[in-house]
Amino acid sequence: MEKVKCLILGGGPAGFTAAIYASRANLEPVLYEGIQPGGQLTTTTLVENFPGFPGGVDAITLTDGMREQARSFGADIRQGSATKADLSQRPFRITIDDEKEIEAETLIIATGAQAKYLGLESEKKYMGMGVSACATCDGFFYRKRTVAVVGGGDTACEEALYLAGLAKKVYMIVRRDVFRASKIMGDRVLNTPNIEVLWNCNTQEVLGDGTAVTGARLLRKDGTVFDIEIDGFFLGIGHAPGSALFEGQLELDANGFIVTKGKTSCTSVDGVFAAGDVQDPTYKQAVTAAASGCVAARDAEKFLHQQ
Ligand code: NDP
Repeated sequence: MEKVKCLILGGGPAGFTAAIYASRANLEPVLYEGIQPGGQLTTTTLVENFPGFPGGVDAITLTDGMREQARSFGADIRQGSATKADLSQRPFRITIDDEKEIEAETLIIATGAQAKYLGLESEKKYMGMGVSACATCDGFFYRKRTVAVVGGGDTACEEALYLAGLAKKVYMIVRRDVFRASKIMGDRVLNTPNIEVLWNCNTQEVLGDGTAVTGARLLRKDGTVFDIEIDGFFLGIGHAPGSALFEGQLELDANGFIVTKGKTSCTSVDGVFAAGDVQDPTYKQAVTAAASGCVAARDAEKFLHQQ
């Protein structure tokens, strides 16, 4: 069985940054990229808020650069996904693609999160052409335009408030007659003049002209169907962290995010560290994921040093 000092799961900004730091610290990391090489970034096009790239950087170029940078320091980056994990004793046993077993002295979990979508065909069709699940990433393209945000939780409120600072008008499409969000966030939304909340509404279809979103068809609880004209359609109905493999083995919060201790990446199991969106329900940015990947590699290095 292959034995490694530091196994990293996840090929997004958190995993690659962990690999850069771990390889420079001689931990000889092995990284498996998982089912979405490049991570969530690859669902966007231009990344304008990653420092160091005035004018923005193409998401694929950015993740390819991180991968190459990690490789240049000796990180062993491979294709494949963890399909089984036994964290009950160290070294941890991880199975890749149901066939290859690895023993890892330390494990860095950087498996990310997936934004939830409604599951409409039209939503899929206009992905990247007006449909987005990240206001911070894509909001800038909708300056002085009209957008809609789906959801009534804190994420949706935060997205709507962020977009309200850029767009001419923001619709919030909320499926019940109350917010799920904290009162303070809900109140902020209600007190923002260019946000209109459409209560008791579900989206039937995202409308478009074949190349861009032009509207949405909504169904109100009373049976009324109506269209709104919009240029952007933002999902804010939550994220699903990639933590299913670790359920019952690591402490997770109520939404499945891995719980880390204080400012560290330490999880409830010594020697297992978590970085990026799989442990971050709040900030969810490429740059914060990258930073937490650095933290995880440093924590793993310290842990191995103490053993
Ligand atoms: P939540 O699960 O809290 O809210 C999801 C929202 O989306 C709900 O309003 C829900 O409606 C709605 N929704 C879910 N599925 C659908 C669907 N298929 N169609 C239409 N609407 C749908 O997720 P969040 O991401 O908002 O928050 C997750 C956690 O992160 C929470 O604990 C939140 O407090 C925290 N958070 C905190 C922030 C902060 O403090 N600044 C920022 C962001 C998140 P319904 O209510 O009817 O179920």
